[in-house]
Amino acid sequence: MSEVLFIGTSDAFGAGGRRQSALLLRGQRGSVLVDCGATTGSGLNELGVDRNEIETILISHFHGDHFGGIPLFLLAALYQDERKHPLRIAGPPQVEARVRNLAWAMGHAIEARPWSFPIEFQEVPAGSSYEVGPAKIQSFATRHQIEAHPQGYRIETGGETIAYSGDTGWFPELPRISAGADLFVCECTLHRERLDFHLDLETIEEHRDDFDTGRMILTHLGDEMAKLRGQCTIETADDGLRVVL
Ligand SMILES: [Zn+2]
Ligand SMILES: [Zn+2]
Repeated sequence: MSEVLFIGTSDAFGAGGRRQSALLLRGQRGSVLVDCGATTGSGLNELGVDRNEIETILISHFHGDHFGGIPLFLLAALYQDERKHPLRIAGPPQVEARVRNLAWAMGHAIEARPWSFPIEFQEVPAGSSYEVGPAKIQSFATRHQIEAHPQGYRIETGGETIAYSGDTGWFPELPRISAGADLFVCECTLHRERLDFHLDLETIEEHRDDFDTGRMILTHLGDEMAKLRGQCTIETADDGLRVVL
């Protein structure tokens, strides 16, 4: 049995007063936080998630709403949790340099502190399979701003498989890449407006029959989609939604 807890479900800008998109995957082998934006820490606290249960943070790409919360997660783990066990931070190529640069820019340089726990970095470039902490993952490239090294994942933490689109515009391989997953969590920033680097509801509806997944839930909802949630032909996520697979 796996559980997916939607820590946040908004676009980068907190549309509808919600938190930036992040997921907590709980499986038999452990828990993985998928993306950690600037508002993820508030979400973990509000939802009563103990940071110590998170063995791995898996980043989809280097935009602030997906990895901007990591430096403060680390500090909270050190000062509030007195964490002792390792924390793995996995993501696209350059993950270690990107996180270190971000932490430095925020005034919390990783090198500046003695850590009570090991911080381990792992690159998971698109196009292959990896063991990442408690998860088995496959990474794939998505269609998003290239300088952010955008990726999506298929993730298995014990039995069930969750596919996660990350941020992406439409690309024809998306249904095949997510096929067979028990749950496909797909970004849907927009309602009708079409962009190359974000998905919209109309495009997903057009291709709905091409997807062969047990359940599809839309997240990363922008302003219009925030107002439409719960009223679409495809299920939409809300902060705190808990799905048991
Ligand atoms: Zn985003
Ligand atoms: Zn992005």
